[in-house]
Amino acid sequence: MKFVDLLNRDMDKLADALSREHGKTLPDAKGDVQRGLEVVEFCIGAPHHLKGEFTDSAGPGIDMYSMRQALGVTAGITPFNFPAMIPMWMFAPAIACGNAFILKPSERDPSVPMMLAELLEEAGLPKGILQVVNGDKEAVDAILDHPVIQSVGFVGSTPIAAYIYERASANGKRAQCFGGAKNHMIIMPDADMDQAADALVGAGYGAAGERCMAISVAVPVGDDTADRLIAKLAPRVEALKVGPYTSGEDVDFGPVVTAAAKQNIERLVQTGIDQGAKLAVDGRGFSLQGYEDGFFVGPHLFDHVTPDMDIYRQEIFGPVLSTVRAGSYEEAIGLAMSHEYGNGTAIYTRDGDTARDFANRINIGMVGVNVPIPVPLAYHTFGGWKKSGFGDLNQHGPDAFKFYTRTKTVTARWPSGIKEGGEFNFKAMD
Ligand code: NAD
Repeated sequence: MKFVDLLNRDMDKLADALSREHGKTLPDAKGDVQRGLEVVEFCIGAPHHLKGEFTDSAGPGIDMYSMRQALGVTAGITPFNFPAMIPMWMFAPAIACGNAFILKPSERDPSVPMMLAELLEEAGLPKGILQVVNGDKEAVDAILDHPVIQSVGFVGSTPIAAYIYERASANGKRAQCFGGAKNHMIIMPDADMDQAADALVGAGYGAAGERCMAISVAVPVGDDTADRLIAKLAPRVEALKVGPYTSGEDVDFGPVVTAAAKQNIERLVQTGIDQGAKLAVDGRGFSLQGYEDGFFVGPHLFDHVTPDMDIYRQEIFGPVLSTVRAGSYEEAIGLAMSHEYGNGTAIYTRDGDTARDFANRINIGMVGVNVPIPVPLAYHTFGGWKKSGFGDLNQHGPDAFKFYTRTKTVTARWPSGIKEGGEFNFKAMD
């Protein structure tokens, strides 16, 4: 509770530090802290999730009960794009379950995780229960190989998620590793095109597209739908304001995280052009007066993208939205289902039957119906399918209490219930 108070007290300070280091806008940085804070609040109710199970009189004079016990020392490795939220998604349930936690934040924006650790200490957490270890692969490998560490949580890109899952599991640790994404939004002919275009602008370009739940593929069903969508979308994308976080609410998104990220986005945009996609909005050569050396990338909108292109198959993690025109609903859902990633998806339609069919059949972990970024709230779980998630349990919600504890089951009988003599056969309790 005290930690929640301190997070609220320091919200502006945390958001400012986060924006300065990461580049996302101030309102977006506050959202980053807020969505972590909500998981901390949820974890205040930990006793409800840790109370175990009890069976009275499982046999004559026999009671049986299961306890959820802490694992011991746990660890988490987090990405650059949510330096407040994702560390809190990990350390809050880990500590609420009685574990110690070692956090290895992204080396690209480690300040806010350090500030969070200081606030936890100020809130009264004993020293050493949360430790922040800075570094890169070397620090991660030390965590993966250390025999005392019982579990590893990871959020980041898919190749590293797969590597960490494999190495942690081989070392006998419990692991949950969440990877990259390529989130499709399907736009049916009956959708409200203004709503769909607004949703795509926010979900595609917010945080410069550096969100694992960003929509990076728009799939309008039918050429007429596609033409109507592009006509609504292109002017909105052209009007997006890119700038430094110091502009407060006057900018829609800021720079990408590093020069290397900018180069990679520009390289992928060029492959899109070379492979035959049409640039409906060309953000190339974007430069901001006074910030010529910044890592700003202009917004791009591609039309006529096909599934064989690199810009469709790979995660771009930048302000680039690809439009793949589908001939039918079946083709649209098939596209999303065939993609190797399965983090999030959305459908825009007024038709309940189509929405229901989509939600039931799609092989993707988080689904939005007329909601473009369906990030579940703290009391539900968060996790992708296919190459977007390795491991059995999701983040936050009830799964977190399962991930950060193990079950012990006790079968108990008091002397008055014990019959005379030994029992040699394995049988029902009597
Ligand atoms: P990243 O994989 O480069 O880094 C993530 C973490 O892994 C960092 O702490 C980093 O230090 C560490 N790391 C990097 N290379 C390593 C190596 N070779 N060995 C061991 N550890 C290594 O990811 P990023 O660029 O920080 O974050 C962006 C990626 O994260 C995107 O792919 C995005 O989709 C994904 N992401 C996924 C989710 C999700 O919930 N599925 C959420 C946020 C971000």
